[in-house]
Amino acid sequence: MNYTDLYIDGVWKSGTENKRFDVINPADETVITSVASASVDDAKAAINAAQNAFADWAGRTPRERSIVLRKAFDLMMERLDDFAKLIILENGKAYPDAIGEATYAAEFFRWFSEEAVRSDGMITHAPASGARIVVQHKPAGIAVLITPWNYPAAMGTRKIAPALAAGCPVIIKPASETPLTMLALMPLLEEAGVPKGLVNVLPSSQSSAIVDTMLSDSRVRVVSFTGSTEVGRKLLHSAADQVLKPAMELGGNAPLLVLEDANIDTAVQGTMLAKMRNLGEACTAANRIYVHKNIVDEFTKKLTLEMKNLKVGNGFDPDVQIGPLINENTRNKVAGFVVDAISKGAILHTGGKVPEGKGYYYPPTVLSDVPKNSNCVHDEIFGPVAAIQTFENLEAVIKDANDTEYGLVAYVFTENMKLGMSVCERLEYGMVGLNRGLVSDPAAPFGGCKQSGLGREGGHEGMLEFTETQYISAEW
Ligand code: NAP
Repeated sequence: MNYTDLYIDGVWKSGTENKRFDVINPADETVITSVASASVDDAKAAINAAQNAFADWAGRTPRERSIVLRKAFDLMMERLDDFAKLIILENGKAYPDAIGEATYAAEFFRWFSEEAVRSDGMITHAPASGARIVVQHKPAGIAVLITPWNYPAAMGTRKIAPALAAGCPVIIKPASETPLTMLALMPLLEEAGVPKGLVNVLPSSQSSAIVDTMLSDSRVRVVSFTGSTEVGRKLLHSAADQVLKPAMELGGNAPLLVLEDANIDTAVQGTMLAKMRNLGEACTAANRIYVHKNIVDEFTKKLTLEMKNLKVGNGFDPDVQIGPLINENTRNKVAGFVVDAISKGAILHTGGKVPEGKGYYYPPTVLSDVPKNSNCVHDEIFGPVAAIQTFENLEAVIKDANDTEYGLVAYVFTENMKLGMSVCERLEYGMVGLNRGLVSDPAAPFGGCKQSGLGREGGHEGMLEFTETQYISAEW
């Protein structure tokens, strides 16, 4: 393992406290390596480095920034397989998911290399005074980026690329379970032409202390977080002291509605994608599957067959489609959801049993008739469990789908587009997949409403999260 130290100011450092923590392979529970753990002093050093890099980078032309980002895309595409293997090693996901993530991660460099040169402003006449109203977007300043373990590459590049496109330096705090992929990205960024100090990476076993230190420094202007709603709430409190610009991609509890006229095969394939991509460890994972009573038996039968056919095992095996969950806690939580739902009356069609042996494996599981008071209806499952409920009345199911504090993504399957669009519009979610089980796209604004977050990543909106709008009232 080549890159296991802190990356500050373009230099690999063991950290002022010289402490390290282990990274575990979830497929066999062995220690992959140990990684340097950043201290509060290291966080301060990273802020100094970022501040020193800021003026030069912000002063470069949009085209110069764009060229660096494009080069990062090209280099990452050449090395997709290396990144996929590192993702499998520390996160456990199967090769198709890992290569999918590496490609998705690289795409953010391409997309934002194209957006970097499209920082549109506006000029108009003030209606009353006739003065010119000039509006432009300026780099906001140092951005602290905090990422989760479920997409070790993509959740980082989805923030780094727009920040750099906007002209901002960044400090990344990757998840402790999966710091290696982000560290491995740094030599690639150097090769692409990212100057020293512009991107810094601080793995740490004391995330709260180092993040609080950074958020209380007045030179930091943006905090962009992807992770649980619980931690997001805490960071919003911390961000309040310096009135930081927050971008929050938080938890979800996605409903998936299969209406009576849906094409059942399309709906089953869409559900497989929405539920099983990344083995269910995704904020976009279909958490509550509502199927009309006239088609629920056929849907459940077909979905169960698909789930049974998935091969579970070590992600490095090319035939494997489902790897292990990230850790013991996550597996216990997933297994607990299944036990709870069955105890309340749900019917188990496949899976549901923790296998013997090493690795945090859990089998693809299908439950039907899941009672509304089951824990998995209210909490994020974050694992390979499809929890089906039956509905009869469209109004009631829309109400149920909206009955959550989350609002990230929903899915609707129907052959009637007029009905489908009207149902989509009534769902209180930042994103909706209509006859599709996948909404993530670097070119689209990803994000949620309610307690699923604030702000958007990707699309045209993604770069605006790292800018301040300045208005000049001009007379000439
Ligand atoms: P998490 O526990 O919230 O951790 C996310 C990140 O925050 C990690 O880097 C973690 O560091 C750090 N962190 C934890 N406590 C902190 C604190 N007190 N102060 C500062 N930083 C802190 O989430 P997770 O378990 O990694 O990820 C799963 C969650 O992420 C799910 O809820 C999922 O829905 C959500 N998610 C959302 C999106 C989206 O786009 N909306 C995408 C992916 C995941 P350590 O690892 O060192 O604890």
